[in-house]
Amino acid sequence: MLYHSLKNHKNLVSFEYAVLKGLAPDGELYIPEHIPKLKPEFFQKLKKSDIYTIALSIIKPYIGKSIPEELIYNIIHETLNFPFPLQKIHDNIHVLELFHGPTLAFKDVGAKFMAGCLSFFSKKKGNDVTVLVATSGDTGGAVAKGFHKKPGIEVIILYPYNGISSLQEKQIASLGDNIFALEIHGSFDDCQNMVKNAFLDKEIQKKYILTSANSINIARWLPQMFYYFLAYRQIIEDSIELIFSVPSGNFGNICAGMMADKMGLPIKFFIASTNINDTIPRFLKYEKYNPISVKKTISNAMDISNPSNFSRIWDFLYKKNIHQLRKKLYSYKFTDEETLAIIEMVWKEHKYMLDPHGAIGYLGLRQYLHKSKNTSNTAIFLETAHPIKFLDHMPYFLRKKIFFPKKLKVFLKKKKKIKKTSLSNDFNVFKNWLLKRK
Ligand SMILES: *Cc1c(COP(=O)(O)O)cnc(C)c1O
Repeated sequence: MLYHSLKNHKNLVSFEYAVLKGLAPDGELYIPEHIPKLKPEFFQKLKKSDIYTIALSIIKPYIGKSIPEELIYNIIHETLNFPFPLQKIHDNIHVLELFHGPTLAFKDVGAKFMAGCLSFFSKKKGNDVTVLVATSGDTGGAVAKGFHKKPGIEVIILYPYNGISSLQEKQIASLGDNIFALEIHGSFDDCQNMVKNAFLDKEIQKKYILTSANSINIARWLPQMFYYFLAYRQIIEDSIELIFSVPSGNFGNICAGMMADKMGLPIKFFIASTNINDTIPRFLKYEKYNPISVKKTISNAMDISNPSNFSRIWDFLYKKNIHQLRKKLYSYKFTDEETLAIIEMVWKEHKYMLDPHGAIGYLGLRQYLHKSKNTSNTAIFLETAHPIKFLDHMPYFLRKKIFFPKKLKVFLKKKKKIKKTSLSNDFNVFKNWLLKRK
C-alpha cells in the first residue's frame, strides 16, 4: 500500500515515509491510495479468531513492506494488551468500553501502536526522531505513556493553558526523560496550528527529524479501525448491521470506523456526536464548512472547531458527495447541561457511569433512535475515557460513586513533580525555543 497527499495524488510514498513525515509536503494529510476489501473468509473466521490475528489481517495491507509481518504482530500484541468489553445498557443500546488502557483513554491504542512503528523506523535509520504533538487533553497522556523511554525518540507535547485537567497535566508533565511538556497560552486549535507550522518551517526541519503523533498521523489513525471489528466480534447474532455513535473531536476515531465500513464491516451508519463545537453537525445540515472559535466544554477532549480528520471523510472517503455522506453519517451536538443530565439519568436508571464524552455518544444514539423508532439494529456508542479522568466535571453528588481504578491510585500516589515550559501563543516564540534547545 502506498500513500499520497489528500490534494496531490501524484507523489506516492510508503507507510514508513508517511509515518515519519506526519503531513505531506503540501501540508495536507496522507491517505492510502485505495481501501483494501476484506475477504468473506475473514468475516467467517472473525468471531472465532483471536484479536491479534484479526488486527493483523486488518492492518497488514496498510503497512506493506515497511515493517516485517512478525514485528507488526508483536506491536499489535503490545498494543492490544487490555480488554475492550461490549456491554448492553438497555434495549438495543450497547457501550464499547475503550478506556481500559494505561492512561484510561481510547487513545492508548493509537499511541502505543505508533510508538512501536516509530521505534522500528528510528532504529533502522540510526537517527533520533522528534515527535511533536498538540493535545486537547487525552492525546498527550496517551502519547507520553506510549512513547516514554522508547530509544531514539523524544516527544514534545503542546497543550492549551487551562484547557486540560490536572490529572491530564500530571500524565503529560511528570514522566520526564524523553517527554517534554509545553503549555501554550492559547486554545487547542492554536497548539495544532503551531505544530502544523513547525512542519512547514525549513530552519526547524534542518535541525530535527520531526513527526507528529496527532490522529492525523496514519500510524495513530489506522489502528483505531480495530475497535469497530472488536465490537462486531462480541455480537452474538450473525448478519446484523451495526450503528455506531462516536463522540467526536478531531474526527480521527470515527473516520477510522468509516474506513472499517469501506473494508466490508457491516455498519449501517455512524453518528458523529459532538459538544457545542458543532462545525460538522452544521456542515451536514447546511453543507457549509464554517468553523467558528472554540468553546470550552466539560467534554474538553472534543473542544475542537476545525477537525483535521474530517477532510479524510469528506474528500477521500465520500469524494465530496453530500448525498452519499448523509446516508452514512448523522451528526448531532449536545450542550453541557444535556451531558450532565444524561449522566445522572443513566446512573439512576441503569447503574452505568458515563464520562462526559461517552455521555455525548449515548445522547447521539438516543436522539437517533428516538427519531427513527429503530430498535432492530445493534446500536453501540463508544465510551472513550474513564469517568474518573473527568471527576471535576461530573455531577457533584455522583463523584463518590465513581469506581476508582487501581492503576490510577498507583499513579497518583507517586509523588512526581510537574516539569513544563510555558510559552505565549506565538509561532516565533515556539520556533526560537525549538532552535535553541538543540
Ligand atoms: C480524543 C478524544 C475524543 C475525540 O476523538 P477524535 O478521534 O479526536 O474525534 C473523544 N473522547 C475522548 C475522551 C478523547 O480523548
